[in-house]
Amino acid sequence: MSRRESRPEASRECVLRPQREQCSSCGKLMRGSYHNRRTVCTLTGLCRLTVVIRCCQNQACERYHVAYHPEEEGIWALPQAEFGLEIIALVGALRYSEHRSIPEIHQQLRLRGVQISERNVTHLVERYEELVALRVQKALDYLQAGDCLVVWKLDRLGRSLPHLIRIVEGFKKKGIAFKSLTEQMDTTTPHGEFFFGIFGSLAQYERALTKERIMAGLTAAKKRGKQGGRPRAISEEKVQAITEALNSGTSKAAICRTFNVKRTTLYDALRKTAEAISTPSLHLERA
Ligand SMILES: [Zn+2]
Repeated sequence: MSRRESRPEASRECVLRPQREQCSSCGKLMRGSYHNRRTVCTLTGLCRLTVVIRCCQNQACERYHVAYHPEEEGIWALPQAEFGLEIIALVGALRYSEHRSIPEIHQQLRLRGVQISERNVTHLVERYEELVALRVQKALDYLQAGDCLVVWKLDRLGRSLPHLIRIVEGFKKKGIAFKSLTEQMDTTTPHGEFFFGIFGSLAQYERALTKERIMAGLTAAKKRGKQGGRPRAISEEKVQAITEALNSGTSKAAICRTFNVKRTTLYDALRKTAEAISTPSLHLERA
């Protein structure tokens, strides 16, 4: 979306240089080959960053001319991001610790001098969720049978109830113990099996609920005269014309050419029609 108001001038300038001077592959000195400029929005205003990029100059090295960015750049912002990580962290805290709505978060940020649209706040909430999910996944990948994961609160682990249930079910399968301090859940105690049992029942309930919702949705759609699933590739009238042509002895190849349909689409449409009206006269075997 294009910006409605012009972006103000950056109030600070900062030069970021890589700490590492030697190439990680061949060990030779890397040179500062070029620099990028980017402006990052922080809680203390806009900052204009000059990012010095180093490259290995050794032609025989596998990292020859591979850009090496300053280590510090990752603390400022995600690659290509306009808003800094501290803003993402604040958005996440407002959303998940204080349970604020998007308009409220937007207002908070505007009050703190951050020029941001409501739509971008939504994007930042999504970025925050992705970062947390990535972090949780990293922790989960690290766990092995016999380990115990301790969380402060259940909502720190799963993005939603189905997600949480999937994670905890995974723990049981892998033989990983699990503790949540706030809810006082501990699968290492004699009650552990009981907790896993609760999550198992919840998973079953969730699946039943999803199925019920889908069926209810399909029934409601049918009542409104809509058919579930993909729309038909060939219209009803066209199918009727095709059937008539077939019955009068026209070959399938000729029909495909005349009606401009693919052979697989034709077979598919004829099969569906045959199923719907159970007409034994339609011969659908491939000619
Ligand atoms: Zn090198």
